[in-house]
Parts: sequence; structure tokens; C-alpha cells
Amino acid sequence: MSLSLDAPTQDAPSVADDGVWLECIACGGQFAPFDDVRFTCDDCDGLLEVRYADPPTFDDFAGEGVWRYAAALPFEEGVSLPEGHTPLHEVPRLKEDVGVNRLRVKHEGMNPTGSFKDRGMTVGVRVAAELGVDRLACASTGNTSAALAAYGARAGMETLVLLPAGKVAAGKVAQASLHDARILEVDGNFDTCLDIVQDLANRGEVYLLNSLNPFRLEGQKTIGFEILEEFRDDYGRFPDRIVLPVGNAGNTSALFKAFRELVAAGAMQPEEVPALTGVQAAGAAPMVEAVENGADEVRRWEEVETRATAIRIGNPVNAPKALPGIRETGGTAVAVDDEAITEAQRDLAREGVGVEPASAASVAGLRKLREQGVVDADEDVVCLTTGHLLKDPDAAYEAGGDPEPVGGSTEAVREHIGAE
Ligand SMILES: *Cc1c(COP(=O)(O)O)cnc(C)c1O
Ligand SMILES: [Zn+2]
Repeated sequence: MSLSLDAPTQDAPSVADDGVWLECIACGGQFAPFDDVRFTCDDCDGLLEVRYADPPTFDDFAGEGVWRYAAALPFEEGVSLPEGHTPLHEVPRLKEDVGVNRLRVKHEGMNPTGSFKDRGMTVGVRVAAELGVDRLACASTGNTSAALAAYGARAGMETLVLLPAGKVAAGKVAQASLHDARILEVDGNFDTCLDIVQDLANRGEVYLLNSLNPFRLEGQKTIGFEILEEFRDDYGRFPDRIVLPVGNAGNTSALFKAFRELVAAGAMQPEEVPALTGVQAAGAAPMVEAVENGADEVRRWEEVETRATAIRIGNPVNAPKALPGIRETGGTAVAVDDEAITEAQRDLAREGVGVEPASAASVAGLRKLREQGVVDADEDVVCLTTGHLLKDPDAAYEAGGDPEPVGGSTEAVREHIGAE
């Protein structure tokens, strides 16, 4: 099964464990899934993907949340809080304003620790337990550390998180702290943190739970399954397009994998697959640059800056999986400035949907692509909002209105609000 949308299913190789194995997307090398700890290919250092001899159809799914999709995962159950089953909000005013046929917002901020990272961790920490490792670690712009801390705590494992000093939103550090992760504030950006934690993992000192870990993407695949099922239940068809923020491009890769597996199982036609549309902040847009240049690889940006700290990433490690996903599904990528992100955060808030800045990038990107005529007025679109408003209270205060001081009496309040 290559990274093309209509790749057929494969027979299980001899290294497979119950029809599950790891395969290098660069050289095709195949490895047993749970015998040793490995994050990339032994032979060429390429990215690994979890492969199944028997990809599922919609009929194989039962229950609720991430583990509804156990037929598409390497285990029957995981370390669960539980996660998934997030709302697919209607946003009628925003839909009219942006000008598309249908618009729904998949709010991943409604997961247990407030971001989609929980979907990856419920699977990733389960695999860590299978492998028998004892110290879990990640580099993080914030949400991965919050999720790892909570799921590690749940599993009774030690957790270590590396954060770029001064660049992580308050709510996320608070979560990692209370769930008792060891927090290392690194003098460097996220990409530096990831370089270090990868070194530690390669030396066997920690088990890495960034989205470089192929098992995390298995959990995140379930966002795609949920969107497809919910949309089909409501409208009898799948959405034309899914718009999502891009940091390390894990979600973009994971959604593409969900679609490939459904196509391989005959549960979906290639032409029914939604166009994957990635959005980055203008100050951290290496994927957009690669898509615009038709490149197969991204150029690492050394300097990155944006208010959307969750996607302040200059070296998206999953680009070799995500770029084919964007291309094969007929999608695209677009950059938006911080002003547009804040405006989109307000747009969503006016519909009652509270998200952090990175999440609002999806809506800002859709608006821009619609204005440019890249997205048509007759499209059915789902925007993915990745994290909850409370993750970044400072950004919310800045985007919202100011409190008004008033005297401590009914008269003073009546006067202040201009009561008759
Ligand atoms: C992690 C994160 C992202 C980036 O997701 P990728 O899968 O790395 O592209 C976007 N938004 C939020 C809120 C996140 O926490
Ligand atoms: Zn390889």
C-alpha cells in the first residue's frame, strides 16, 4: 500500500503481529510492530506507518469515541479518559458569511484535556505499555504535553516534556504541571525541543510520543472516521473538503490515512474523499511554501513567529506523509496572518464555539480561499478546530472585550448600563 489514494490492501508480511506491522514510507522496509522500540526506519531513517492486512469498513465500527474504531487500530482498547466523540457544530451565520453550501465545525477542543492530542495519546500510551517502557517524553508547543501528562498519569508512568521557554500558552503549562509531568523549559523553539527529544529517544532514554510516533497518528485517524460518519448521517454524503490547521502535519497525515484505508476496504470511492486543505500562520508556513512550489519536501524555517503558538513550527516532521495527502485528495494549503486568525476566533466565539488561536486558523484559511475563488460556493466544508479557548486565556482576553469597572450598588450598575 503506497501513499496513493487507491493503493490496494497488502498481505501481512512475516514480521506482522496479528495482521499489523510497521512499514517505511520511503524504502518499504517492514518491521514487527511491538518487538522493539523504533520511531523511524532502521535502514533509511524514513517515516514509519502502521499497516493492516485487513482495513475496516464502516460496518466494523461499534460503540463511541476513539475506541469505536478499534477495528482500525492496533488494540481493542487503550488507556482511555475517554476521548473522541466531539461535536460537529452547525455555524449558520458563519456559513452565510463565508458563503459555502454547508459548513460544520468539528470541535476537538472538547476532548478530555482540551485538544485532539488525546486521540493520539490513548493509543500511543497503550503501545508504550505493550513495549514495557517506563519513561514517556515529548517536545510540545503545549497541547501534546498536556495530553501526555494526563495519559501518562492515568497509566501510572513517568512523563518528561520539553517546552520552548516563554512560547507556551498558560493553560497548557498548568495542565502539564498539575498532572505531574517533569517540565523542561528549553532555550530554543519547538523544533529544537523535538531535535533533543528525538536524540534522547534514539539513545533509549525515553519513549517518544510526538506525532513522529506512528501509533499516535492511528488514534488521530479517528477524527476522519467521525467526520465522515457524522456528515453522512446528517446529509447522506461526505464533505467535499476538510480544512485544518497544520503544525507538524500529523493530523493531515492521519486523515489521509483514514481515507486510504476506507478506500482500500471498498467503503469509500476515491472521488468521494474530501480535499485536505491545510492552513498555516504566515510566520510559520513551510508546508504552504512546499505546496505552492509543488515540492516533495519542505524547507525548514529556522525563524518562526505567530500568536497561534500551537502551530509555531518550522520543520513539520510529517510532511512526507502529508504532502501526498494534500496532492492526492485535490486539496491545497494556505497561509493566514495573525489578524485574520484573531478575527476568525471572534467569528467562532459569536457562534458560541470557543477555540484557541491555532484552531481558528482553519476558519481564517477557509475564508481566504473562498475569497480567492479556490473554494467554490457550492462546497460542503468541515473546519477542524483543534483546541479549546481556555488553553490560551491571554489570547482570549486580547481578542475579546474589556471588563467595565462599576460601583458596588444597583444604582451604580443601572446608571452604568443606561437603565431608564
Ligand atoms: C498540535 C496542534 C496543532 C497542529 O497539529 P499537527 O497535527 O501537528 O499539524 C494544531 N492546533 C492545535 C491546537 C494543536 O494542539
Ligand atoms: Zn526505509
